[in-house]
Amino acid sequence: MENTRCDVVIVGGGAAGLSAATTLARALRSVMVIDSGAPRNAPAAGVHGFLSRDGIRPGELLAAGRREVLSYGGTLIDGEAVSARRTPDGFDVMTDDGRRISGRRLLVTTGLTDELPPIEGLREQWGKGVVHCPYCHGWEIRGQRIGVLGTGPLSMHQALLFRQWSPEITLFLNDTVEPTDEEWEKLAARSITVVDGAVASVDAADGVLRGVTLRSGHAFDVQAVAVASRLEARSHLLESLGLVPQPHPSGAGRFVAVDPMGGATAVRGVYAAGNVTNPMAQVVTAAADGVMSGARINADLIDEETRWAVEGRFGPFSAASEDAVFTAVMGQRRYGLEVSDR
Ligand SMILES: Cc1cc2nc3c(=O)[nH]c(=O)nc-3n(C[C@H](O)[C@H](O)[C@H](O)COP(=O)(O)OP(=O)(O)OC[C@H]3O[C@@H](n4cnc5c(N)ncnc54)[C@H](O)[C@@H]3O)c2cc1C
Repeated sequence: MENTRCDVVIVGGGAAGLSAATTLARALRSVMVIDSGAPRNAPAAGVHGFLSRDGIRPGELLAAGRREVLSYGGTLIDGEAVSARRTPDGFDVMTDDGRRISGRRLLVTTGLTDELPPIEGLREQWGKGVVHCPYCHGWEIRGQRIGVLGTGPLSMHQALLFRQWSPEITLFLNDTVEPTDEEWEKLAARSITVVDGAVASVDAADGVLRGVTLRSGHAFDVQAVAVASRLEARSHLLESLGLVPQPHPSGAGRFVAVDPMGGATAVRGVYAAGNVTNPMAQVVTAAADGVMSGARINADLIDEETRWAVEGRFGPFSAASEDAVFTAVMGQRRYGLEVSDR
């Protein structure tokens, strides 16, 4: 790879990062996307809730996004970004294989990690028989016997939520959920079965989820399991720039706070979008976030270039930036203003 300098470095090539990259490339910005190839929904068979793309394989959606980025001149880099630091011109991002990618702005779209309780068989079924979000998977398991695995206060909410998709809900308290009197009343009113005791395993045969077994040995015949994973922002890179994730108000995990208008962080020039900033974002939401961030970053660069043009300076990397400055300089000449040389 020859050129490692660009207008915008994007770390994370999921729905958020690729959407931002397309927006920026279409705005004639040089953009490089570093991606380690582990999108959050990789274990799922299909993407649901994305208008016009219902059921598309997650890998297929991203492959189409990657093609779009390339078609507008964006650059895709396979690798893991391990650290970032500020430079006089912007930011340097280091990859795990020792490359340095420099950009005037940095956008982080690294997503989040779903932390699962250490229960035998759970991870193997994640995204298949074990699900977290009824808007992603509820239709596919509608009417089935669904077990809700207790992990904390959010499991109560999840049991009542999944009840919309099936009348046969069993809440496994798993020694972690203690319903209040009011909650017991709600569970009873919605005919939700409650099972006391710690869960030992989620059981499958031939890759299909068959049930849940307690440590006591009691086995329950369920066809799907819902679990509220802990949603931890993949914020390592942002943390290396001093941006610390904070607890999400829902209690679901941690996220990095950004400005809602395009994802500006508390560090000037650093932006973030998608699940790393909003744990509730679905694919279409993350993509929309990416578009907003792309537009916001472009506006930020335009502000900078306009300032340079007024001062008679030129941008360091972008041909498009130089065009903008050239236009501004010509304008200054037209008005008989003093213009400094390049
Ligand atoms: C099992 C499951 C099923 C789901 N199903 C649906 C569904 O049907 N519909 C729906 O709308 N949503 C679904 N979701 C939610 C969906 O996965 C997220 O909304 C979406 O992935 C968020 O996109 P993102 O771009 O923010 O993050 P991601 O898609 O997670 O992309 C982040 C990217 O950044 C990369 N990355 C991370 N760190 C680094 C680094 N340091 N250097 C380089 N690259 C890095 C990762 O490899 C990854 O490619 C599902 C989630 C799960 C867990």
